[in-house]
Amino acid sequence: MATAQKAFSHTHLERRIRISTLLEFDTAWRIGSGKEGETMSDLGVVLDPQGQPVLPGSSLKGKLRSTCETFADGLGMTACLLNSEVSTVKCVSDVNYYKRQADKYQSAVEKGVESQLSWIDENTCDVCKLFGSPVLA
Ligand SMILES: [Zn+2]
Repeated sequence: MATAQKAFSHTHLERRIRISTLLEFDTAWRIGSGKEGETMSDLGVVLDPQGQPVLPGSSLKGKLRSTCETFADGLGMTACLLNSEVSTVKCVSDVNYYKRQADKYQSAVEKGVESQLSWIDENTCDVCKLFGSPVLA
């Protein structure tokens, strides 16, 4: 467990993981752009500069995150699901939890960067430590 916690440290980058793979789809797929008329289809598709459909890394990351959230409990990890009330996991990625803890966070900030980083580490779920957080960005 200590090794896993070190990998999630906010004080410095412990290690970088590069994942290379070849994706093979069993069914048709598309990543919607939210715009119409980019292709022959009425449904907008994310395209690269050459006009080819692409799978953005952020979409892949989102799928990995949601899968990790699904299996977090079985993996011994905490997952706030960006809602501490629903998940019962306290995490600053939940804006409402963050607002309730704002005074404590400010106090940690005033004590210095190590105190600030320690507070963030103690108040962030494992999934947000791994995949990031809109509040911590
Ligand atoms: Zn979280």
